[in-house]
Amino acid sequence: MCQVDEEYNGLEKTPVPTLNKKCVKCKEETAVLIIRVSDAFCKSCFKEYFIHKFRAMLGKNRVIFPQEKVLLALSGGASSCSMLSQVQEGLGRDAPKKLRFVPGIVYIDEGGVTGLSLDERQRSVTKLKKIFTETGFPYFILPLEQVFSLPTSVLMPVTSDPERSDPSYKEAVDQYIREKRQVTEASVSAVSQEEFICSPEHTESLQRLFSSIKTLTAKEDMLQTLRQHLILHTARANDYTKVMMGDSCSRLAVKLLSNIALGRGAALASDTAFSDTRYGDVVIVRPMRDYSSKEIAFYNRMFNVPSVFISSLDTKRHDKASIQRLTESFVTNLQADFPSTVSTIYRTSEKLHTALPKQSHEPAAKCLLCLCAIDTNVDKASAFHATSVSEQLSQIKLQDSSEGSSKQCCGEGWQCETTGSCSFNRSLQYEDLKTLLCYSCRLTVKDMEEVNTLPSYITTEAEKREMRSRMKMQISEFLLDDDE
Ligand SMILES: [Zn+2]
Ligand SMILES: [Zn+2]
Repeated sequence: MCQVDEEYNGLEKTPVPTLNKKCVKCKEETAVLIIRVSDAFCKSCFKEYFIHKFRAMLGKNRVIFPQEKVLLALSGGASSCSMLSQVQEGLGRDAPKKLRFVPGIVYIDEGGVTGLSLDERQRSVTKLKKIFTETGFPYFILPLEQVFSLPTSVLMPVTSDPERSDPSYKEAVDQYIREKRQVTEASVSAVSQEEFICSPEHTESLQRLFSSIKTLTAKEDMLQTLRQHLILHTARANDYTKVMMGDSCSRLAVKLLSNIALGRGAALASDTAFSDTRYGDVVIVRPMRDYSSKEIAFYNRMFNVPSVFISSLDTKRHDKASIQRLTESFVTNLQADFPSTVSTIYRTSEKLHTALPKQSHEPAAKCLLCLCAIDTNVDKASAFHATSVSEQLSQIKLQDSSEGSSKQCCGEGWQCETTGSCSFNRSLQYEDLKTLLCYSCRLTVKDMEEVNTLPSYITTEAEKREMRSRMKMQISEFLLDDDE
């Protein structure tokens, strides 16, 4: 239920701070900022509060092990740069409150999608490089174009050891250290710097892909998916087992609401929780989820945390240009007038769990793009069924007119040999991908004019999966049921 007191406090407009208000914490210094109605902090108490919150978030969740390699995914924005400064602060501290993991940084340059010139892209990269070099951490600056050279293995979730799924923290740490010793220890100190290489052909392919997507909503969703794949691959290729994302509480509130609108209800828990284990071997964590964007902006300004403004797909776009943009402006306005309501939205995300499907011997099928469990196996009374019924009805008419052309075992688009080795004969279409996607990713791909513009690691894997399921169907009558 709603917390009446908290909400009531939030509904009052924040009073203008009076000049001589004392800090609520030390009760000595004059307050310099007010976070919520009753919390006025002086500069040094605010710093302490901010730093403590980061440490508390990691401490409470206990998922990062000593000496573990953690990749910080930075966008250049205020929130992720603030996260970087917290990690630096934590590692530089004296024991016993020192953070003990081994950080690295990844930045994905999306300029090829947002239509920036190579010059403009280089300029932001130079600014970021300066920030990253000062930290002394190894970093990777990768253009999004590199998705065109990703291997299909990115789309394969690695199932983690079931025995490891719920051990105590101490056991998990012990196990981690044991496994770690088996791997060489030499790779830790080397500072790797990926140079910014981006071929013109790949930029062209990327632009072709995004111009084939009809709506901004779907473009943003696709961008998010591809960026995630590239980060995941970078983590795997360099032995990082955790990825830290800088999503603030305000960002997560936007994500939560827009995901509901995008039909990603089934994936809400993993999309917004503190830790997200969908990839198996690499776990996503979101340590900034307790900070509002306002707190972050204040902190960065007071303590000179640098960040770089880089325009995104929806920069300078109208409020109603996409579902994500519309939700963002709604939440931003909400935060201005009713700050507590925003944290109520995001707190809801902490309580979400995805109901596990009934136990079966086979592992649940994962969506080709977002790698969440496929949610299309649902009751008949659902929006999903309503859409698929009307899709089927509109196709019956088409099929009627084209019946009786040729005899093929696998259906239209397949080269069928009598030997049974059938292969794909034409370019991939939405219909082929459909069964491999979750409800929300279906909507995104449906907005594409040409599915073939997708990077080859996606289309190749799709063809492979399609082929496998056809083969399974063909031999199904010869297989024994699980019960027999
Ligand atoms: Zn104080
Ligand atoms: Zn999906």
